[in-house]
Amino acid sequence: MSDPLKYLLDESRLPEAWYNIAADLPVPPPPPLDPRTLEPLPPEALQALFPDELIAQEMSAERHIAIPEEVRDILRLWRPSPLFRARRLEKALDTPARIYYKYEGVSPAGSHKPNTAVAQAYYNKKAGIRRLATETGAGQWGSSLAMACQMFGLECEVFMVRVSHDQKPYRRALMELFGATVTASPSVRTAAGREILARDPECSGSLGIAIAEAVEVAAGRDDTNYALGSVLNHVLLHQTVIGLESMEQMAMANDYPDTVVGCTGGGSNFAGIAFPFLGEQLRGGRPVRLVAVEPEACPSLTRGRYAYDWGDTAKLTPLVKMHTLGSTFIPAGFHAGGLRYHGMAPLVSLVKDLGLTEAVGLPQLECFSAGIQFARAEGIVPAPEASHAVAGALREAIRCKEEGKSEAILFNLCGHGHFDMQAYINYFAGKLENYAYPEHEIAMALAGLPPVPGQ
Ligand SMILES: *Cc1c(COP(=O)(O)O)cnc(C)c1O
Repeated sequence: MSDPLKYLLDESRLPEAWYNIAADLPVPPPPPLDPRTLEPLPPEALQALFPDELIAQEMSAERHIAIPEEVRDILRLWRPSPLFRARRLEKALDTPARIYYKYEGVSPAGSHKPNTAVAQAYYNKKAGIRRLATETGAGQWGSSLAMACQMFGLECEVFMVRVSHDQKPYRRALMELFGATVTASPSVRTAAGREILARDPECSGSLGIAIAEAVEVAAGRDDTNYALGSVLNHVLLHQTVIGLESMEQMAMANDYPDTVVGCTGGGSNFAGIAFPFLGEQLRGGRPVRLVAVEPEACPSLTRGRYAYDWGDTAKLTPLVKMHTLGSTFIPAGFHAGGLRYHGMAPLVSLVKDLGLTEAVGLPQLECFSAGIQFARAEGIVPAPEASHAVAGALREAIRCKEEGKSEAILFNLCGHGHFDMQAYINYFAGKLENYAYPEHEIAMALAGLPPVPGQ
């Protein structure tokens, strides 16, 4: 029997403050740069896109930032999220490891993304903004922001990467149900989209292109701001509710993780579960091993360069220092749509550069197989993105078996796969392949890095 270590719905358990890793890192995070001057970006430069309170969080070095009551009221609809011990999986693997997972699929959109969507919608509403523009890959972020905007009475305009738009009509329907307007990207609605389409009318899109379109719309209108579902410091901050709750829940189980595993697209769910534990270590507490799992087909942490780069394909965003495959990198069409970004969150990149986390790139077939093994043991179908974390945790559990070690492994099951069954259909039909990026393609995309001295 698996024992659900779920909190009772006791509101005192919902964290009252987010945790900011910048307060505990041994070096300050490198600042974002203005792409024209290559000087640190003044905070005012972000005001065309973000409200002041989110800009302040982006730059903050405060350890704790209070979660507004209006935000906690909405998070309480599904938080605290449950933390389970995967006893049936342990048995199936015959491992001495203790495997725990934090389940973020209980949110209304089925992933961790509403944790930040709600906060971002709140601060924009408070600043008098009427409309938010954003991009979405697989549709997880778009549906999360659509829901949050609906709850705060904001309009929501979503640019959805065309390949997902065509493959995932139900995600589009969910966004529209929550009142959002959805456009397939690249689109003729923006200069960035028109330019791409002129060169390649069949372009299947990328997150970088969709970001460029949403940023262009937001920068061009006073009543409209931009919202990003990952990568930025304030997004990672909002996701720390995952790790903060996990720390309490692990304590209720009288245990502590030796290893924390998460999948990384832009880095937010990994940071969300891992940073509170890492902070504990950095303040002299118990050490923890962190493992970031990315797709072999989009290997920013394992094969990218740690360098200043643009966040989008049209080179509209500031330069940020991150592990990047180059802003022109368009990954092969593999199935974890949420893990297709060319870069990695600057804070996760810095933590990797400091040797405070490990990273591994896994092939897609191993991830699907792990996801199915997990579903058959524990009854939850992981999102293809989340199956990367499952596969990473399985590797750790198998290592424990080989080494005869009884370690505690905690991973983030960041979303369910109920909207992704086509990917599983394709897997069972033998239509999926592994895809490792050729070195020369990566080198080509990296040749276009901005001319920042020293890189
Ligand atoms: C968006 C998404 C991801 C990737 O984004 P991160 O910022 O790396 O967390 C991973 N899993 C799911 C379920 C997602 O929706």
